[in-house]
Amino acid sequence: MPFDNSYARLDEKFYQRIKPTPVKNPRIILVNRELAEEMDFPLPETDSELAELFSGNKLPLGAEPLALVYAGHQFGNFVPRLGDGRAVLLGEFLNTAGKRYDIQLKGSGQTMFSRNGDGRSPIGPVIREYIVSEAMFRLGIPTTRALAMTSTGEKVYREQEFPGGIFTRVAASHIRIGSFEYFASRNDFDAVRTLADYTINRHYPALKDSDNPYAALLEKVCSAQARLVAKWMRIGFIHGVMNTDNTTVSGETIDYGPCAFMDGYDPATVFSSIDHYGRYAYARQPSIAQWNLAAFAGCLLTLIHEDTELAKSRAEEIVEGFGAEFRKHYFSEMCAKIGLVPTSPAKDLLNEFLEILQKSKVDFTNSFRELGKAVRHEHSALLELFADRELLQNWLEKWRGELKKQGIAPETATKAMNSNNPAFIPRNHRVEEAINAAIEHNDFEPCKKLITILLLPYEEQPEYAEYMNFPEPNERVYQTFCGT
Ligand code: AMP
Ligand code: MG
Repeated sequence: MPFDNSYARLDEKFYQRIKPTPVKNPRIILVNRELAEEMDFPLPETDSELAELFSGNKLPLGAEPLALVYAGHQFGNFVPRLGDGRAVLLGEFLNTAGKRYDIQLKGSGQTMFSRNGDGRSPIGPVIREYIVSEAMFRLGIPTTRALAMTSTGEKVYREQEFPGGIFTRVAASHIRIGSFEYFASRNDFDAVRTLADYTINRHYPALKDSDNPYAALLEKVCSAQARLVAKWMRIGFIHGVMNTDNTTVSGETIDYGPCAFMDGYDPATVFSSIDHYGRYAYARQPSIAQWNLAAFAGCLLTLIHEDTELAKSRAEEIVEGFGAEFRKHYFSEMCAKIGLVPTSPAKDLLNEFLEILQKSKVDFTNSFRELGKAVRHEHSALLELFADRELLQNWLEKWRGELKKQGIAPETATKAMNSNNPAFIPRNHRVEEAINAAIEHNDFEPCKKLITILLLPYEEQPEYAEYMNFPEPNERVYQTFCGT
């Protein structure tokens, strides 16, 4: 097997070498054959072999399992040591084109970072991460991927008993801002430098030749996060736990815990049961990303310049640049939702539309999707969503005028809008439905169906029209849980 485990070649202080703890009765539930093919990962033939592999009972040849150490700011508070407490990195797999993929098992048993945890995962969070991360990928958002889902045949005890599961995650890497914080907080700047060099080598090799590779690294990570969060905003995604340990340096979305998609548009939307003060609310995500990047900058100061003041001012300048960069991406993503190039009248129109949405608390996803039809005055379904139709009618007139001014033909606008405004998202009540069917009836069909529909989120799929519906009041999900 073409594993090339570069992280395992770093010093032992970066991880613990540990194997997954075998499980009693593993069963394969889903394998992502398309991803396996992209990776040139040879899948075994039988279900029992797949189950053994993706539960960690049998290690693939060439794997060198590790639990990675990291620290992190959780809800603003620094925790000096977190680490993979319920996950092991099997290794780095190379496809024939040389692309590198981290393969990690999540829910694979205790490690030295488990603290009081059991190292296991109930099947619910496994299902959520599979559905949402694959949907994100299809929506065009940088993300870790799902390679497989297994059940363990063991029970996991939380506030009640749940069936256990293991998730196989594939990522560009598992290097987090928290990985840097772990060593910086111990004043181990040799390790910080090793990790920075490793990151540059792995993700941003062109920076090796820059005047100041570490300042350039900070810039790259800021850009990647600005791009990422702007994309989250476009589809109404709320990560829910934007802690520094859940922020990658690669710019992929990672750690789908209490994440959720906004139904009715409200910038203050929060789902996570543990987010009491709305720190990670929808509209706060950009400023929190910047906060996390400031924490990253803090780790790199001594590498950026030996003169602390000079280092600080350089780092501050870069982190401050996040604001402008985010806004650039944000308006480009968001104006595309109304079919316009992000000129200043287009931005005003966007903001006005969002205000109307907020006032009427109408469904974020469906109203933008319907707008695609309203270009050609087919706006009856759109109007039905709104209480105050006059306000919307006025806006529609102005908007159509702006499309004309920008010289955008109706067909072009509709097409562009449809590829930026999904018809299907993993709606929270559908995800819950899939999880409940699995837990209560061992029925994975709703989960598989949802995954199939979300393969084509931007396509009309009339046979699945009910999956476009926003939740009825009795179906609405108000809170999501880590469930770990
Ligand atoms: P998360 O909130 O998922 O980002 O996890 C935060 C930290 O808690 C990480 O260090 C996890 O490895 C650890 N953790 C979460 N659940 C468990 C568990 N069941 N057993 C051991 N460690 C866990
Ligand atoms: Mg995490």
